[in-house]
Amino acid sequence: MSHLMNTYARQPVAFTHGEGVWLFDSNGKRYLDALAGIAVNTLGHAHPEFTTALTAQLGKLIHVSNVYQIPEQERIADKLCELSGMQEAFLCNSGCEANEAAIKLARLYGHSKGIDTPNIIVMEKSFHGRTLATLSATGNRKVQAGFEPLVKGFVRVPYDDITAVEQVAANNPDVVAILVEPIQGEGGIRIPDATYLQGLRKICDANGWLLMLDEVQSGIGRTGKWFAHQHTGITPDVMTLAKGLGSGVPVGACLTAGIAVGTFKPGNHGSTFGGNPLACTAALTTLSIMEKQNLLAHAATLGVWIKQQFQERLGSQKGVVAVRGLGMMIGIELAKPCGELVGKALDSGLLINVTADNVVRLVPSLIYTQTEAQQLVDMLCPLIESLLMQE
Ligand SMILES: *Cc1c(COP(=O)(O)O)cnc(C)c1O
Repeated sequence: MSHLMNTYARQPVAFTHGEGVWLFDSNGKRYLDALAGIAVNTLGHAHPEFTTALTAQLGKLIHVSNVYQIPEQERIADKLCELSGMQEAFLCNSGCEANEAAIKLARLYGHSKGIDTPNIIVMEKSFHGRTLATLSATGNRKVQAGFEPLVKGFVRVPYDDITAVEQVAANNPDVVAILVEPIQGEGGIRIPDATYLQGLRKICDANGWLLMLDEVQSGIGRTGKWFAHQHTGITPDVMTLAKGLGSGVPVGACLTAGIAVGTFKPGNHGSTFGGNPLACTAALTTLSIMEKQNLLAHAATLGVWIKQQFQERLGSQKGVVAVRGLGMMIGIELAKPCGELVGKALDSGLLINVTADNVVRLVPSLIYTQTEAQQLVDMLCPLIESLLMQE
C-alpha cells in the first residue's frame, strides 16, 4: 500500500532519466515526450547548458529570504518586463500562486477605489489552479465539487463572448477585473476569436477594470511568441506565468503594468520560497537559451507544420471534431471521450495527455526537431484512427 495521498490516477511507469524530448524507464524503454510535464519542460530533459547553469548556481546559493536583496530576482523581473512590456513582477512558485497574487491584487485595487466587495469576471471552462481562490475562479465543477464554500467574488460568463461581458459591465458596479486565459489549456486548447482580447481590453479601459491574463500555460514561447496575447497587439494590466518559465524548476510570476502598478505595498503579499536564486537562475537560463536558439520562431513554424500534418491525416475523418493550435499548443478534439488513448500511447512509447474528456493535448518541449515532430505525428495518428474505428 502506498503512503502517498491518493490524489492522482497515475500511469504504470516511472522514468529514470531523460534526454532532449525522450524519457527512459527502468527497463530501458524510451518514450517520445509530447507532454513535457504539462507544458513545463520548455528545454526538454537534461539540456546540457541548462544543467551546467543550474549546477553552478547550486554551488553558490539556493535560497535566501526575501528580506534580503536578490540580484537574480531583479534580473528575471527586468527580463520578463523587457519581453512583455510589463512594469513590475512578483516571483512565486507555481501557477495557482501567481493567480492568487493576481486575485489579491485585483481586490486591493478595488478597495483602493472604494469598492468593498470587489468582483472578478471569470470564464466558463477556465482553469486557474487548485487553491481555494483559484479553484473558485476555475470554470470546472469537477475541480470545485466538495470544497464548498467557494471563495466569493467571481462572476462567470461564457468564454469568447464579448456581449456577455458587456452585460455584466452594465449591471454590476462591483466588478474590478477580468481574469482570462488567452487560450484555454485545460479547457481543451480553445482559441478565442482574434478580436476577443481586444474587445476585453476596450471594456476594461472603459470601466477602469484590470485585464488579467492567465498565461501560465500559454506563455514562455509556447504559442510562438513570448506570450500568447502578443498575437493580438494588446497588453494586459496583470499577467501570470509559471509552467514553462523554469523548464521544470518551480517558478511563477505575477506581472503588472499601467493602472495595476504599485497596488501591492510592503506587507501586502509574500512568499518564503518565491524568487529564490536557484528558481530565478532556472528562469533566466530558460529565457536566455530560448533566445540563443531562436526557439520562438522554431515553435511557431514547427507548430504550424505539426498542426497541418494532423489536419491532413485526421481532419477529414468522421469522429475528428477539430484540430486546433497555436505554436506548440495543439489540441485534437474527437467526437467521443478518448482518455484511453493515454495508456495506448504509453504502450507504444509516446507520452500525450487528454483534457476536457475528448481533446488530445500536445504541449511538447520547444526543442523538437523536424524528425521528432514527424515521429510524433506518425506515432499518434494510427492510435487515434484505431480508437475512431472501434464502436
Ligand atoms: C496549470 C495551470 C494553472 C495552475 O498552475 P499550478 O502550477 O499547477 O498551480 C493555472 N492556470 C493555467 C492556465 C494553467 O494551465
